[in-house]
Amino acid sequence: MLIFKYLSPEGITHVFRRRGEVSLRFALPRDYNDPYELFLQTDKPLRSKKHRAFYKYFLGKIKQFPVTCFSKRPDSVAMWAHYGRDAAGVCLAFDEDDLADKFPSAFVGDVKYLEGPAQIPAWKVVYAYTTEKNRHSEWLLNDAYGLAYFAKRSEWQYESERRLIVDPKALKHSNGILLAKLPRRVLRYIIVGPQAQDSIRQLCRRRASEYRVPLLELRIGKTRYKPFFSTASGDVMTWNVKGFRKSSEVCISCGEPARVNAGALCRWCAIEPSEVAEAATRSLMTIALDLGVTSLVEVGFTGAKQKGWRVRRARRS
Ligand SMILES: [Zn+2]
Repeated sequence: MLIFKYLSPEGITHVFRRRGEVSLRFALPRDYNDPYELFLQTDKPLRSKKHRAFYKYFLGKIKQFPVTCFSKRPDSVAMWAHYGRDAAGVCLAFDEDDLADKFPSAFVGDVKYLEGPAQIPAWKVVYAYTTEKNRHSEWLLNDAYGLAYFAKRSEWQYESERRLIVDPKALKHSNGILLAKLPRRVLRYIIVGPQAQDSIRQLCRRRASEYRVPLLELRIGKTRYKPFFSTASGDVMTWNVKGFRKSSEVCISCGEPARVNAGALCRWCAIEPSEVAEAATRSLMTIALDLGVTSLVEVGFTGAKQKGWRVRRARRS
């Protein structure tokens, strides 16, 4: 399974700093951008003070483990904006199994998006307290870990996140930064954002050829609402949940994946200049717009109310 890491221009410079390796940064939950990381509650109030003490004791035992986050999709416009620095960054595709194999022990799972906080069933707390059994305590602690590390509020849903949690001993610690030095084989694709600067493009091109992985570029089309991808050799790819797929039909004019006519043009690029000229003669307004006489065209926004002091003054007079 492919998992995707969106990176800012600085982020990708760090990941590709050393030739021959992929340097992946981990962070502890307390350093993540969600201030409610590891937030837990019981589903019902714990009435007994002893039960509350037991629950509190357990919460105190939840350790901070190094986490690195991925997305399950490479075509999220919000992720490119948020983590890919407005599409000036890069998205790396990893093979999840190959990546996990590089650690002595790794936990990988989907983040669940919840309307409220992650909740541990109160009865499990009472049960583990009452039975005094080792395995019931273990059960409770594992539930707490699973919920704390793999649940977030629904506002984060656009991330389609998958997390990798590893033992801190498997990482290099330098100046408070946790790094995994990984071999190039864990990498499957390098995807450059359309706004990336030349230095970032060059770095990615170099690493793609050294690491023998395909280099893709994210493309934003005009007629297709979903982003797509192109390769240096001119292939166009789209993403579906299973993987990248090469488009069989691509418009030779706009380069977008689309149904094309016998001349290899999409239905928008197939419009003739004479048809554009005819469109401009359809009403007085289109003629005015075509001549650039904007004073004859009153602009309004359906659904939006016009406000401002000039409007107020015009209404009064
Ligand atoms: Zn076209």
